[in-house]
Amino acid sequence: MKKITALLPIKYKTLWFLIAVSLHSVSGFGQSYLFDTIMNRVNADLHIVSSIAGLDRLVATHRSTLINNDSAWSDLDYINENGGHLSRIKIFAIAYTAPKSSYFNDGSLQSVILKTLSYWNGLNYMAKNWWYNGISYPQLIGQILIIMRHAAKPFPPSLEMDLIKKMVIGDPFKYHGANKTDIALHFLYRACLTQNKTLLDTAVDQSFAPLRLKNQPEGLQYDYSNLEHGNQLQISSYGSVFLSDVLRIAAYLLGTPYALQNNKLNILSGYYRNTYLRTIRGSFIDFNTEGRGLSRPDILKKTDEIVRLQKAILLDSVHSDAWNAAIARTRGLQPPSYNVTSTHTHFWRGDYDIHQRPAYSFNIRTVSTRTIRTERGNNENILGKFLPDGSTNIQRRGSEYYNIMPLWEWDKLPGVTNRDYDSDEGATIQKEWGIKGTTNFAGGVSDSAYGATAYTLNYDSVTAKKAWFFFDDEVVCLGAGIGSTMPENITTTINQCWLNGKVTVAERSGNATTLQDNSSSQYNNPRWILHDSIGYFFPAGGNIQISNAIQTGNWHKINHRNSKDEISGNVFKLWFNHGAQSASGSYAYIVVPGIESKTKMQAYSLADIHIIRNSDSIQAVRHSKLDMLQCVFYKASALTTSDLSIAVDKPCIVYLKHISNKKGTSLYIADPTQQYNNITVKIKLPGTKKVKELTCFLPQLNYAGSTASIMIENE
Ligand code: CA
Repeated sequence: MKKITALLPIKYKTLWFLIAVSLHSVSGFGQSYLFDTIMNRVNADLHIVSSIAGLDRLVATHRSTLINNDSAWSDLDYINENGGHLSRIKIFAIAYTAPKSSYFNDGSLQSVILKTLSYWNGLNYMAKNWWYNGISYPQLIGQILIIMRHAAKPFPPSLEMDLIKKMVIGDPFKYHGANKTDIALHFLYRACLTQNKTLLDTAVDQSFAPLRLKNQPEGLQYDYSNLEHGNQLQISSYGSVFLSDVLRIAAYLLGTPYALQNNKLNILSGYYRNTYLRTIRGSFIDFNTEGRGLSRPDILKKTDEIVRLQKAILLDSVHSDAWNAAIARTRGLQPPSYNVTSTHTHFWRGDYDIHQRPAYSFNIRTVSTRTIRTERGNNENILGKFLPDGSTNIQRRGSEYYNIMPLWEWDKLPGVTNRDYDSDEGATIQKEWGIKGTTNFAGGVSDSAYGATAYTLNYDSVTAKKAWFFFDDEVVCLGAGIGSTMPENITTTINQCWLNGKVTVAERSGNATTLQDNSSSQYNNPRWILHDSIGYFFPAGGNIQISNAIQTGNWHKINHRNSKDEISGNVFKLWFNHGAQSASGSYAYIVVPGIESKTKMQAYSLADIHIIRNSDSIQAVRHSKLDMLQCVFYKASALTTSDLSIAVDKPCIVYLKHISNKKGTSLYIADPTQQYNNITVKIKLPGTKKVKELTCFLPQLNYAGSTASIMIENE
């Protein structure tokens, strides 16, 4: 294992050193020593900056806009204040106490810090949005005060006392997940500043309280997804805030009597390693993990993950190989495939799937009557109406969707079947803070390496049965029963990502042509399309349209906090046009990520893949080389092929592995509706004469919707 720490820039080494040294010096805790130890670690943590030169430039910029005898800023809106004032003082405080900064111990900066803080103190400001009053302001005040406790020149006690009083706000007991840990964090700051043990007890108790699995809305679920704002998928976004808070607080308390207990550490580590980090490919996270935050610039880039990963190494050294590999990938020191294991995870509580291979990630976001659609809120994610309807995040390099959102045609999200509107108006979310899904058949079967997922779409007057079948090199995507009575064409988008290189199309005859730059084309029955080392095969043809043209847009139209400046770029967009007022449209496409050339694409054989059925009652795919059959039954029905048969008495997804193995076949089964106790399966396997009748008992309660497995002994 390569020592990653040796490759880190100086600033990160400094953090490593500060925390590690303070840890080794911890032994028997006097109370004052305990508070000082925690504050020293908080101070060291707050001094992690991506660049000291950048910090100094920020200080200079912010000093240049000071007014009112250096107490306020000309460019801040003090009517609708949003935390900018305190954030700038924090930057000043960091520079003033950072030995490498040119502002270290700078008397004039210290005077500005005092003036701006006194001004804030006198404002007695309350924001309209509770988050600023209850979380942001008390956190920032606590951070500034802790930093200034480490300053050469003492702070006036009366001002400090006044500001500490302003931190007495918020009640962690009233909240779940990220909001709870966020409030607990400023309780921890205040406990240290006032040496209050009772307050520290509460802060620690509430910080670690979310580290338990539950099957209610808000927080970590039994499938290790994170839900907030009702049962809404928030793996990054709120899940990321929660991770930051808990990792930070646990690192501050390491080696103290308040240290995180192992049972809770295991939950934290499990969520971070097996859920959160698996949604990152190279340096970039799946756009569906960010909730409404996907409408914020740069949000998908996770090159700074190292700050948290180093805390994870300190807390959970048992998994240091996994943490170090994640550091190497997110910082781009190793390729995105580095130490990636092949996994398939279905999140039955979150309605989400991660399919991971060294060569690629292919994740799906769905929704059901049990969960909440991706929200619009505070005028963020204005156009993300169709995100939860089976949108697929397909990554090889990682940056396929990075900052593409302002250019997206929002009714052509990768993977989704919907009405194709003339303008973005059709993709506008009308209601804030999320609405429930409309269908209960949404789920997946998984053996943790392979699996199948299905989603019954009934939204915006469009219906469809959508299913995905996951193997090693291929993902088979099927749609059937596509119906609508609306005037717009119905489309299924295969991908919409940054154009990277040429697009090649092969027609049924085998002739392959390279598309002209900045063009749009239509093919009635193509065989395959290759773009950016991802191959798309069309075993059933279809009316397929491709665009590799320049698209324009702005961040403001998807998030009103952002700039209206127009931006443009080359986008690869590929979709089926099912036509208008379809009653039984269908599609089939096979995604093969990792094909580097036209020649390899031409030579690629799909002989192992057999799409056995693609109807609105059964969708089934067999992979002969892997010896697997994956089958979605939307109702009680039977599937018969030349060498096997399988019948079920209730809707379900069935996956058979080692079908022809003489020793035995594994049967995996899941109930996407999450309402049945058992399902009867009648099965006849190849080479056997007898039909076997199996009663498959399904996981219940906290695990309803997860996969049951049965070993079928062959005679
Ligand atoms: Ca459109």
